[in-house]
Amino acid sequence: MINKLHKVLTTPINLKRKDHTINDEALFSESQLISQFPGVLCVKDSHGRWLQASDELLTRVEIEPTSFLGKTDNELMEYPNSNQKLLSLNHQIELKAWETDSQVKESILLKYESGDIIEVELTAIPITKTINSQSRLIVCGKFSNQSNKILDKLYLLDSMFNFSHLSFIILDKDLNIININKAFKTLTDLSFDDVYGKNLSHINIGKNHELSTQILKSFHDEDFDLWEGEIICPNEAKGAILAKLEITRIINEDNITSHYFATLIDITFQKKNEKRIRQIAHYDGLTGLSNRVLFMERLNQSLSECKRHNKSLILFFIDLDKFKEVNDSYGHDIGDKVLKESANRFLSITRKEDIVSRFSGDEFAILFICEKPIGQILFEASIISNKIIKQMSNPFFISNKEIFIGSSIGISIFPDHGDSVENLLKKADIAMYEAKNRGRNNFQFYRDEFSIATNNRLEIEKKLRQAIINEEFKLFYQPQFLLKDNKIWGAEVLIRWFELKQDFKKLVSPEIFIPIAEDSGLIVEIGQWILEKACTQLKLWMDSGLPIKQISVNVSARQFMDSGFVNSVSNAIKKSGIQAQDLELEITESMLVGDIKRIELQLTRLKSMGVKIALDDFGTGYSSLSYLKNFPIDVLKIDQSFIKEMTADSKDAKITCAIIEMGHSLDQKIIAEGVENEEQLLFLTQRGCDIVQGYYYSMPLPVNKMTEFLKLPR
Ligand code: C2E
Ligand code: CA
Ligand code: CA
Repeated sequence: MINKLHKVLTTPINLKRKDHTINDEALFSESQLISQFPGVLCVKDSHGRWLQASDELLTRVEIEPTSFLGKTDNELMEYPNSNQKLLSLNHQIELKAWETDSQVKESILLKYESGDIIEVELTAIPITKTINSQSRLIVCGKFSNQSNKILDKLYLLDSMFNFSHLSFIILDKDLNIININKAFKTLTDLSFDDVYGKNLSHINIGKNHELSTQILKSFHDEDFDLWEGEIICPNEAKGAILAKLEITRIINEDNITSHYFATLIDITFQKKNEKRIRQIAHYDGLTGLSNRVLFMERLNQSLSECKRHNKSLILFFIDLDKFKEVNDSYGHDIGDKVLKESANRFLSITRKEDIVSRFSGDEFAILFICEKPIGQILFEASIISNKIIKQMSNPFFISNKEIFIGSSIGISIFPDHGDSVENLLKKADIAMYEAKNRGRNNFQFYRDEFSIATNNRLEIEKKLRQAIINEEFKLFYQPQFLLKDNKIWGAEVLIRWFELKQDFKKLVSPEIFIPIAEDSGLIVEIGQWILEKACTQLKLWMDSGLPIKQISVNVSARQFMDSGFVNSVSNAIKKSGIQAQDLELEITESMLVGDIKRIELQLTRLKSMGVKIALDDFGTGYSSLSYLKNFPIDVLKIDQSFIKEMTADSKDAKITCAIIEMGHSLDQKIIAEGVENEEQLLFLTQRGCDIVQGYYYSMPLPVNKMTEFLKLPR
């Protein structure tokens, strides 16, 4: 038998794949012999093609005796009903046997429809250097069908390995792949043949070429039980996928690592989601710049780095000038485009390592790390600031519009101005506020006096709240005269704050507290009080028959734009019982720029009530005259600066004349304020000014003094 078998193995086989010409004569007896071999037996050539097979094996793999000749395991697996698992094992041990050039033994469990579990053990024996260099592979096997609990368990484990949706890899002690499951094939599009015997690094197409070495080192040197990491695997459809790789080691009875077991999970989607969430949480959706949260994080990190390496850090806090006006007059779409373009301009003048962030609304921040000595840092910061200012002063061309904004920049420096994130930010913010105060479109390095000013501002704001409760405000009235008959026409209402100190009252100028009341929003409440008080006072004077026809009440921008303003005017009129035309509201030119529709609506509602509108400080604000045409303005109040410097042929005199003429041509009354001497009065009278007001006639007076003033015979 062995001799015959040997003959079979050593006889050259004239097998041609295409014509399947077989030396039938020579093989007949041997093939009969092998087919009747009482067990599992198969002979393959060096290409894995089946040459001989026992009937028992054919029955086991469910292949017809006429169908196997010249076929490989993979081809036989394609036959319907063929036992894929067995053929697959046959194939696996074939690869291993040729690779190791030695006998290989492996077993699997097969479950039959009857429920029987059978353990199959296949042994592959490579026979090389036969006659004519033909090599052969003999596979024989053993079937044991003791169906017991252990086999059941083993079968279950085997099924779990194969059918799990998780990708499994079994690796030898050097991390060479010795088995994979179906899920692995689906995930990577790599077949058993593609990966068998290859090192784990083979399935990582990412940049880490040292992967296996690192993993083994972790297990050996650091005594890892579990190694976790991310790798990039090939995938036919997607090109590549990001996968989470987890490896555990399998230790044998002698406490030696015999194998490794790895799982692979596709985390491409999860990573993308994480990235998206991070993007949303850390970046500004509109400009793509880092947001406040990320900026603070980076600032913190940079600060630690600067402390460690003795570097300096420059923090620029930038607020766009006039952005609100752009947003209000052109709409949010254009406003958004201005913000985007601004972000690009900031990026264009910074280095890759600088951090540019949109902090909020129209506020931006730039973080700049510098290794130069402090003297040069100031110089460097000035250069950058000048670049920013220049960039931001260039017009923005958006939707066929030429838009001008600007930027105010506050700068704080580590270590000079503080060593904490909060401190540096606060100081850059204070410096920015100062840049705004100094006429915008400029930059300021933080200085301690700015803080004092800010602290004062906060202090005053606190006291203002108290002043409302304590009723520390008083209204003063400055008489206005009609030049035509030199009689009292009305009075401008001017607020005074007598701040309660321990044993005296301190007079605080409205020029100091009104802007703070504006900033804090307290002006809305204070403004309403002024309106009601002033209207009630006018009614008292009128009822007493005193010669006063109207009062002019100053209105601040914030108060005017407040949604409740028109109502509060109407309430004050109703409550006091005056006529609407007895009330004049003084607004400034700067309040007519911005949300044109809203302004127009507010003005029309006031006008339809019968209230008069005066433009205060006329000639000093925005010099666009179009609002004189578009808005219902009754009175122009020439700014005192023109009156002050006015001599017969000065430029101020010419401007004053022009305002009077222009106003009259638009049916508007002209008031000149700040009239202090007879010369000014004479000039204004000659030029046809309607109403005058100023120290020449009277200072602003408290109620009782004003009542006396009104009673004076004229
Ligand atoms: P304004 O509306 O331009 O008020 C005129 C200012 O000129 C007043 O200063 C007034 O006292 C002063 N003045 C009047 N006649 C003369 C003069 O002949 N020569 C000079 N040099 N000055 C004269 P005041 O009362 O200190 O008010 C300053 C600013 O504070 C006001 O400027 C106004 O903008 C604001 N303000 C005052 N009262 C109120 C108020 O009740 N509400 C609001 N929103 N603002 C007010
Ligand atoms: Ca005024
Ligand atoms: Ca004024």
